Amino acid sequence: MDKNFLAQEIIRLKKEKNAVILAHYYQDDAIQYVADFIGDSLELAKKAQNTNAAIIVFAGVYFMAETAKILNPDKKVIVPDWEAGCSLADGCSPEDFKAFKEKYPDHVVVTYINCSAEIKAMSDLVCTSANAKRVIGSIPADQKIIFAPDQNLGNYLQKETKRDFVLWKGSCVVHEAFSLDKLIEIYTKNPTAKIAAHPESESHILKVAHYIGSTSGIINFIKTDPAAVFIVATEAGILHELSKAVPEKTLIPAPSTEDNSCACSECAFMKMNTLEKLYWCLKNESPEILIQEDLRTKALKPIEKMLALS
Ligand code: SF4
Repeated sequence: MDKNFLAQEIIRLKKEKNAVILAHYYQDDAIQYVADFIGDSLELAKKAQNTNAAIIVFAGVYFMAETAKILNPDKKVIVPDWEAGCSLADGCSPEDFKAFKEKYPDHVVVTYINCSAEIKAMSDLVCTSANAKRVIGSIPADQKIIFAPDQNLGNYLQKETKRDFVLWKGSCVVHEAFSLDKLIEIYTKNPTAKIAAHPESESHILKVAHYIGSTSGIINFIKTDPAAVFIVATEAGILHELSKAVPEKTLIPAPSTEDNSCACSECAFMKMNTLEKLYWCLKNESPEILIQEDLRTKALKPIEKMLALS
């Protein structure tokens, strides 16, 4: 179907159905264009908490839409593609995490928002990369912490906060794929560039970064820093929002180890959503996220604690 037709129909349908479209920065340009709000996990969780719409269309990955449903039990939450997962969330099963947690009974459990409702329900606190330091700072200094499911973010936080962590060994397939050699090659050709990296990246990438922060943190850094060239080590979808905000700056996506044609890193899960799937999901109000009430209320507690701290 023609993209302009789809975009017009989506805009008409969302008005007719009192729906709101929340889209992650990593979504395709065409989806960002029809979205009401674009943001990172924390910004979208807050929007989901405050919306008056009857239907939330979540263009992101499954755990994000699930978080929106946990916060909005009375609203219909629908997704363009049910199968759009996340390597971090999918790599931490409830059975394995329960066994892991049982090995450290005196630890407080902090989980990155990129996990399933079942894992959130087993957590004391949830965090995003934007508020992780603040969330950890709210825990008494002598308290040991289990951090899951991202070991790269966990390693980074451990160094920053100097706290005693036990880490679940999960990782993001996109942020783990950046090539240091190729990054240095690009930097050598652009020696005035600043490197901005997401803390899901591996420690050797973080070591060479001028700025480390969440997706929204990276956007703010690039908007406000006087440099003219930036090498951006996070999912390449962020460049859409950035190129609108700072058209005068040169933005270079950090290269991945794979020899793909564009040399940048894209999340295959995020890119499963298309404008056409978004249209059909809004038209049919399906697939819908449903969560058992008992699980939802357990998963809600650590999310509410995080939001109160943000
Ligand atoms: S970029 Fe990584 S953390 Fe984000 S959704 Fe994709 S796999 Fe998950």
